[in-house]
Amino acid sequence: MDWSALSDHVLAGVPVTPADAMAILDSGDDTLLPLLQAAFQIRSHYWGRGVRIHVLRNAKSGICAENCSFCSQASSAYSGIDHYKMQSVEELIEGARAAHAQNAVKYCIVTATRGPSTAQLDTICDAVRRIKAELPIKICTSLGLLAEGQAEQLAAAGVDRFNHNLETSEDYYPKVCQTHTYQDRMQTLQRVKDAGMETCCGGIMGMGEAKADRIQLAFSLAKLGTESVPVNFLDPRPGTPLEKVKRLSPSDALRCLAMFRFVNPSAEIRVAGGREVVLRDMQALALYPANSLFSEGYLTTGGQGHSQDEKLILDAGFFVESIENDTPNVAPTSSCCTESPA
Ligand code: SF4
Repeated sequence: MDWSALSDHVLAGVPVTPADAMAILDSGDDTLLPLLQAAFQIRSHYWGRGVRIHVLRNAKSGICAENCSFCSQASSAYSGIDHYKMQSVEELIEGARAAHAQNAVKYCIVTATRGPSTAQLDTICDAVRRIKAELPIKICTSLGLLAEGQAEQLAAAGVDRFNHNLETSEDYYPKVCQTHTYQDRMQTLQRVKDAGMETCCGGIMGMGEAKADRIQLAFSLAKLGTESVPVNFLDPRPGTPLEKVKRLSPSDALRCLAMFRFVNPSAEIRVAGGREVVLRDMQALALYPANSLFSEGYLTTGGQGHSQDEKLILDAGFFVESIENDTPNVAPTSSCCTESPA
């Protein structure tokens, strides 16, 4: 496969096919660098060499009634993580100040729950209003399934984006979680769009799914027109049903990122959870297909730290994007492929 020609097609507005996506995931290590270079052609067209830093805030940790098999915050997991109730408005504001000091363009408030209670939603909306009044930072929230009217409440408070991952393909989803359905997730994403917020939606690679499931997810996201796509790599958590799953290799993880870039050319592709432990010494190569990352760790696991992340970005010849430049170079175009298996 001529990866450079494929990226030229994508930039000319011709969507890749599921067969192209499979060729990417099936490609060998000898062609990994040409593949990443071709993915970079697309990435740089939309995003230049900028990297967006996002900082996560675990605003309520653990004892979640859902049973997502990858998650150490499920009440069924024996993971030994910290459990705590919803943080206060002041604590959430402090987190936003710290994120802003670390050059984050987005502060992502996350709660471990099936969906937000009225009191939790009120706390988050109050915090968001005060953060937006004080700081030039965008807000993403990830609060589980949204009931009718809740998306509008968040949007009115100033939430810019709502995260709700599909995690994997529709076919594989029942193997990952049984307490809610893929359709429940789609309904929340629709509510987010209807309320006028951006959607952040991605998944986790390496949960035992087939390559075809990763491709199905990528095309589902293209069909949804998702603005932000976090690509996580499973870091198997002790005490969860997936604790014994083997991590992806760095090169397979990079091929996943490249595939998501080809299928969702204008999206903000984020190299997300598992970056440090899965990519190891090859982290810098992830910035060729991806244009954003989480810094300062994840919900229940630490990262390598802000200064190391900035060094990673700068040493590889990229730069940290500022909030003033928080738009793509070119207006997003639909990348939805009519041959989508989704
Ligand atoms: S809903 Fe979220 S917090 Fe709860 S088990 Fe699933 S992934 Fe974990």
